[in-house]
Amino acid sequence: MEEKVHDCIFCRIIAGEIPAEIVYEDDTVVAFRDLYPVAPTHVLIVPRFHTETILDLAKTEDVDDTMARVMFAVSRIAKSEGIAENGFRFIANTGRDGGQTIFHTHFHLIGGAPLGEALLPPGSIKAPDDHPLSQVPSKGNDPVKPIVLPDPPGIAHL
Ligand code: AMP
Ligand code: ZN
Repeated sequence: MEEKVHDCIFCRIIAGEIPAEIVYEDDTVVAFRDLYPVAPTHVLIVPRFHTETILDLAKTEDVDDTMARVMFAVSRIAKSEGIAENGFRFIANTGRDGGQTIFHTHFHLIGGAPLGEALLPPGSIKAPDDHPLSQVPSKGNDPVKPIVLPDPPGIAHL
């Protein structure tokens, strides 16, 4: 499998060709501070092996070990950053609609301040006209009815 993609900025950080403030690393993942932090703690947890998105990572034979290492890194970094007790947000922007800008799989660990309950400011998303979200009048923080999604195949109700 290909180890490093030359024009990939995160492969180059992992290879030590571009500087970054590394806060944790092991054989499988490297974690460094985001260059444009959105909160007091903003760390990117990046598998060393290059895949473009979490969907591509999911197709590799190493996905189980990689995600176990990612979760271990989350735990270690949350403790070392002092945000384990108060909490944080852990997200993977994926693809165009997910707002992914760097196509080397990575996870954001964001915290150190209250982030609020909403993922995005109310009204900041334009849903397709036939989507239930478009039927909800936008009145600040009014609760939005949850959208009921069908179960994925293979998930049984216990
Ligand atoms: P995403 O939008 O999920 O693809 O996130 C990419 C993140 O990488 C953004 O939050 C950027 O601020 C961050 N970023 C871009 N270049 C660098 C860099 N050289 N070092 C650290 N973080 C970076
Ligand atoms: Zn890469």
